[in-house]
Amino acid sequence: MATLPAAPLLTHAATATKVKDIRLSSHQGYLRLVFDLNKSIDHSIFTLDKPDRVVLDLKNTNMTHGMVDRVGANSLIRRIRSGVRNSNDLRVVFDLQHEVKPRSFLLGPSGKAGYRLVLDLHNEKASSAVVAKKQVGKKKALRDVIIAIDAGHGGKDPGALGKKGTKEKTVTLQMAKRLEKTINQQKGMKAVLIRRKDYFLRLRQRIEKAREHNADMMISLHADSFPDPRARGSSIYALSVDGATSETAKLLAEKENAADLLFGDVNLAVEDEMIKEVLFDLSLTGTIRSSLDIGDEILRQIKYINRVHKKEVQQAGFAVLKAPNIPSVLLETAFISNPREEKKLKSAAHQRKVANAISKGVANYFARQAPPGTWLSASAGDYKVRSGDTLGSIAKRYRTSVENLRARNAMHTSSLNAGQVLKIPVS
Ligand SMILES: [Zn+2]
Repeated sequence: MATLPAAPLLTHAATATKVKDIRLSSHQGYLRLVFDLNKSIDHSIFTLDKPDRVVLDLKNTNMTHGMVDRVGANSLIRRIRSGVRNSNDLRVVFDLQHEVKPRSFLLGPSGKAGYRLVLDLHNEKASSAVVAKKQVGKKKALRDVIIAIDAGHGGKDPGALGKKGTKEKTVTLQMAKRLEKTINQQKGMKAVLIRRKDYFLRLRQRIEKAREHNADMMISLHADSFPDPRARGSSIYALSVDGATSETAKLLAEKENAADLLFGDVNLAVEDEMIKEVLFDLSLTGTIRSSLDIGDEILRQIKYINRVHKKEVQQAGFAVLKAPNIPSVLLETAFISNPREEKKLKSAAHQRKVANAISKGVANYFARQAPPGTWLSASAGDYKVRSGDTLGSIAKRYRTSVENLRARNAMHTSSLNAGQVLKIPVS
């Protein structure tokens, strides 16, 4: 680290302020430098550009040679230089990677700490990056996260039947279409329906279709049935390596897979052997982890609108879930065999609630885990909410919209808390 001519210990040393230490800490959006002093100080700061610098002038001050070298370089400060001015004053120059907004203040003695000069270098990169991108107009194309929605059963396979004659294949398609709508209303996400009409698709075809669309995840919608009409509630399943985690999950997997054996002419036994090999692939293990994670987020939201049959995400060997590299979950929305739930499953209001709950769960997951290259993964920077901020004021400051801010941060309300960190969307 380079230094200007070192500050010599001059005769004014006895009356001069001494810099005893410099401490650096990194915070959300700014770097803080604290100069520990033996007494009060007069100081001034100013900035220079091309290259970007912050200059700190300290009146009648001295500092041990080499002290600035202790701070070291970091992502913001390229180097720090110090030198003597007007024989008694100290000048500290910060060479920066980019423009900052400096703020400084003096603190008096408190507890063990003595006089301190605090210099905060606020990161201006976040806002200027947004502006720069808009001005240049050469924004890199960011894709949507693709959600494949699979309405269970269809055509010659009606699925489970309710007492009032409701068919599983009908309610799953209705719900799939409502879910498509709520997903497509969300910026950064796009839904694709595996089947749009009442026709039969083999389980393998469903997976192939999701893959053709480069889906980032697949959700398969179903309605449960059980001989005892009192059975009720929602359950969610993710693929398991070792097969079913519970006896019910196993039975259910057999039942849902049975449709394929009956109508699909697929030899599941052979297919399973093939899949077993793939299961050793680490990427699939990663996919299962993601599936469980997505399942967990959806279940969290479903809990607000329906009783859950099983409190955790279940793991089962459904063929439809065996889509390597596409995290997949299967939602048994309710029991069609329960007269009260059958009525719910048919109701447009309830179907909308289910669709909203799933969308929220999916949005929460992808706000954290969006694949690279998607709009949801991109961010122009972080913003720490201060009291008095509103979504509108933040959106205005960063030249984006409230809708984009909410979508990027999977916010389901407009309320903000001071200290909360928001991702600033790229446009
Ligand atoms: Zn089903």
